[in-house]
Amino acid sequence: MTDNLTVSVLGTGIMGAAMARNLARAGHTVHAWNRSRDKAEPLAAEGVHIAGTPADAVRDADVVLTMLYDGAAVLEVMRQAAPALRPGTAWVQSTTAGLDAIAELAAFAREHGLAFYDAPVLGTRQPAEAGQLLVLAAGPGESRQAVTPVFDAVGARTVWTGEDGADAGATRLKLVANSWVLAATNAAGEVLALAKALGVDPQSFFDAIDGGPLDMGYLRVKTGLVLEGRLTPPSFAVTTAAKDAHLIVEAGEQHGVRLDVAAAGAARFDRAAAQGHGDEDMAAAYYASFDDDPAGA
Ligand code: NAP
Repeated sequence: MTDNLTVSVLGTGIMGAAMARNLARAGHTVHAWNRSRDKAEPLAAEGVHIAGTPADAVRDADVVLTMLYDGAAVLEVMRQAAPALRPGTAWVQSTTAGLDAIAELAAFAREHGLAFYDAPVLGTRQPAEAGQLLVLAAGPGESRQAVTPVFDAVGARTVWTGEDGADAGATRLKLVANSWVLAATNAAGEVLALAKALGVDPQSFFDAIDGGPLDMGYLRVKTGLVLEGRLTPPSFAVTTAAKDAHLIVEAGEQHGVRLDVAAAGAARFDRAAAQGHGDEDMAAAYYASFDDDPAGA
């Protein structure tokens, strides 16, 4: 197999569109499909072939890359692609899915003779656009030469966690990492809410921690989005964060640990979504601190 591959990207949302673009820029032949075709169309200008159905997208694929909302969406779309999937094709599954979903997807891969790579990514819109994601990957050694150029095109680095995608080692690491990301996002929102309630200028808090061990780039980024009203377009939407927060809580429950902060965080994302902030950046969980008048917060 050469380094120039035919790669099918199923799902061209925030992350999938950026990944498809970088695959095309790296010289691969890219076929992309998205449920709402209008989100895939702009990729045609980059030489990406836009497919009308998942089956059309995967027909000649060396590698299929899924980057959809959750595990259920991946299974649904891969079932639609199934008639055109060739045994031996490598499947890079980058959607953040739960542990049970990874087991189901790995079983689907076995049934269809696909080489399954559990390959979630760390990094958001900007690193995705820059091809600088951190890829967490587990999958069989034999097909690594097919998937390595794909990981190289979308990421700055790949961390291999094992040779069996079905054991979800990469997804387990991803959930651990996201528990930190989501907790930090919610803590940043509550800092702003409490400061507002107590009449404290947030800038005086930033000045107090400036350059010390409590300071953190991520705090500055997420509070900046709220303070400057830059919650759209999102890097990581509230609804997607809610989905991940529930996956983390579930994983904790399944493995016998209490994750009180994650559970409270999930409730905050759900509440912000119910208030109408679902499509905004997850920093909008800030609004969950205000019961009655989110618009006035
Ligand atoms: P997004 O922009 O909302 O994209 C979600 C994609 O899933 C869209 O293409 C959407 O299609 C599709 N989809 C949803 N339900 C579907 C269904 N039932 N059938 C077919 N397609 C369906 O989200 P994203 O931020 O790119 O995230 C994609 C995945 O990457 C998620 O699992 C997320 O947790 C993970 N992730 C995100 C980030 C981030 O910072 N954004 C970082 C790392 C990992 P439509 O366009 O038709 O709605």
